[in-house]
Amino acid sequence: MPELLKVNEIDKFYDNFHAVKNVSFTLEQGEIGCLLGPSGCGKTTLLRSIAGFEDIAAGSISIAERQVAGNKTVPPEKRSIGMVFQDYALFPHLTVKENIAFGIDSLLKKEQGNRIEELLQTVELLGEGDKYPHELSGGQQQRVALARALAPEPKLLLMDEPFSNLDVALRETLSTEIRKILKDRSITALMVTHNQNEAFAMADKVGILSSGTMQQWDTPHAVYHRPVNPVVASFVGEGMFIKGEVTSQSTVECALGTLSGELPQEYSPNSKVNLLIRPEDVVHHDDSPYGANIISKTFRGPTILYTLELDSGEQILSLVPSHHQHAIGQRIGIYQEVEDLVVFPADSCL
Ligand code: ATP
Repeated sequence: MPELLKVNEIDKFYDNFHAVKNVSFTLEQGEIGCLLGPSGCGKTTLLRSIAGFEDIAAGSISIAERQVAGNKTVPPEKRSIGMVFQDYALFPHLTVKENIAFGIDSLLKKEQGNRIEELLQTVELLGEGDKYPHELSGGQQQRVALARALAPEPKLLLMDEPFSNLDVALRETLSTEIRKILKDRSITALMVTHNQNEAFAMADKVGILSSGTMQQWDTPHAVYHRPVNPVVASFVGEGMFIKGEVTSQSTVECALGTLSGELPQEYSPNSKVNLLIRPEDVVHHDDSPYGANIISKTFRGPTILYTLELDSGEQILSLVPSHHQHAIGQRIGIYQEVEDLVVFPADSCL
């Protein structure tokens, strides 16, 4: 697959503030990428730099093998991008059809009409074309915004927190729906979000940003199960680190006994490590020789999150179906079920 978006070693400053630091990543034709990270890490700045609303200080950006920033700068309207914003940004005095038509007024009237009908069908709003934005729900308005962004057939779709004005249930359905629309039409898209569930539901590739630096750009599965550093491991999902020692190419000795699993190559026997324990990997079992005391618990409906103290004094989390009811202060047997062992050097900053 050809690269549709290539971001190559870009830097962005606001006066002396270094907002984006040497960031590189690529998206292939038809792939969906999500930039994920805490508030202020530079997600929107990166998206706006790709759109052409911000000038970059170094590096280059190419869309469909045409350089749009770097040695030469192409203005936003000539970059063949579509944009969807958090607040929908629809024109309130125009109908749904007129909003969608806005980006394709160069087409003949009949052609325009056909395209609008087709887009209304795509976003499942057939029959709503003559309504005004205020007559639609938030989710419907965002689908109109998507149809408008897709109308000129951009090569790249950019979405900035598109679901954050919607309630939780609608976010989930809309992110699944929008992923399907984009995949059916093989549209390449890059989305900004600070919501991990949204990023995982939408993306083929996730980029974890922290303080303007791209920490990892990889599949959701890899980012979750094989985080490249403690920053990514702590930001994505829940989990706590305990001390361990590598005892063979596939085993680590720790307060939970000998854990087996894939280990990165660079760890040789006797290496001291910090080992990530994910809560869903900690299983309760009365017959286990390894015990822990329950420090606290949080009821989450289908699951309960327990904080446990091991005999080493270290704490871990355990997420189990909520029929596993235990009292605070109780001692339980546990073991760890895992495929990939996530370890970092013992002196790594957690
Ligand atoms: P959020 O999730 O809160 O939207 P973000 O990850 O999108 O955050 P950005 O909006 O890209 O972060 O901002 C990155 C950093 O750059 C922040 O520290 C912000 O204060 C700073 N910044 C953003 N825009 C400007 C600007 N126009 N002038 C100066 N500093 C800015």
